[in-house]
Amino acid sequence: MTDCLFCRVVSRQSPADIEYEDDAVLAFKDIYPKAPVHLLIVPKRHIDSIARMEPGDAEVIGRCFLAARALGEAKGFAEKGYRISVNTGPEGGQVVYHVHFHFTAGKQRGPGA
Ligand code: AMP
Ligand code: ZN
Repeated sequence: MTDCLFCRVVSRQSPADIEYEDDAVLAFKDIYPKAPVHLLIVPKRHIDSIARMEPGDAEVIGRCFLAARALGEAKGFAEKGYRISVNTGPEGGQVVYHVHFHFTAGKQRGPGA
């Protein structure tokens, strides 16, 4: 998937502010933050979207949530809370077709925001 932006971030061919990494997951700052803390958590292995997720992808997707938990604790939001969202497909607002979880924190959000 050499034409995938987030695969290029994972392989360090594109720059990013990396905030978390383990063997399966990478998290980095969103370049257009929509909250005081706005990170993107991605599986290192390319998966197009949740709509194309397969049973074998379940573990790495679960690992993304564990990374979110670690980030929430590291950044002091474990108790205050944070939001994890995933846009899926054209009408779901997905622009980058490499599964990513938006981790946003630090601000009250209105319903559906
Ligand atoms: P989505 O609409 O869910 O596909 O979200 C794509 C997100 O990727 C947007 O919030 C963008 O601001 C963000 N984004 C696009 N290019 C980059 C990049 N090179 N580094 C970090 N974030 C990016
Ligand atoms: Zn990719």
